[in-house]
Amino acid sequence: MSAQPRVLFDNGPHKVLCFDQLVTGDGVQSNQFLIIDHDEHALLDPGGDLTYMPLSLAVSQHIPVQNLTYVFASHQDPDIIASLDKWFLHTRCKVVCSKLWARFLPHLSAGYITRQQGFTTTDRMVAVPDRGQDIPLGKTVIKALPAHFLHSVGNLQFFDPVSGILFSGDMGASMVDDAQPVEDFAKHLQTMEGFHRRYMAGNKACRLWSNMIRSLNPRMIVPQHGRPFVGPEMIGQFLDWISQLQCGMDLLEQEDYRVP
Ligand code: FE
Repeated sequence: MSAQPRVLFDNGPHKVLCFDQLVTGDGVQSNQFLIIDHDEHALLDPGGDLTYMPLSLAVSQHIPVQNLTYVFASHQDPDIIASLDKWFLHTRCKVVCSKLWARFLPHLSAGYITRQQGFTTTDRMVAVPDRGQDIPLGKTVIKALPAHFLHSVGNLQFFDPVSGILFSGDMGASMVDDAQPVEDFAKHLQTMEGFHRRYMAGNKACRLWSNMIRSLNPRMIVPQHGRPFVGPEMIGQFLDWISQLQCGMDLLEQEDYRVP
């Protein structure tokens, strides 16, 4: 399988690579990201068994996989982090996730895997507090941002200040087969609307999140599924739309809670 990544940023010591062609057959199209800064590296939302083999092969073209510094997990879902045990077994990585999931994710890994390396699974978890934190990477940091209820109750997003890329997880995700940048927002909307209405918890979270992202002023917003938003025009249209979207709890009625 050829898995040439999309190069989102490269200034030499700092690189951001997007692997967008690894899911074949069943399973929703999914983007995995590798951030390299000097001799440290972070893999974002690597997925489950479906992507482990092709992703580790693809990543090994760029870094010595056993030295992987981190796996960043935006939340706890199978398409995000179900391959945790394999990354623990084959690399020395720590896993960065919300403190809400740090006690649950060890269920994905047999304890002996880390014990034989002299650690407990908990030693290898970085439990991020609700307000987020900076994660040191090489000579820079990656910002772990709060994005709770968008969609998971303990949800993180990651911002790379060097490239200006926001890795937005499910926010801005679209159900399409490729990761070409969005060009026509109005046309693109139909690939996002149903998903955001159902998976995002409510307008308040969307609105407060949008305010935070405007203050961050990212150059690119790259979701985990589908197409990225590049430049102020597309990013502005996306934030305008999502900040007024009625979704999740906003839409619930008694009809939605009836015994079937
Ligand atoms: Fe999810």
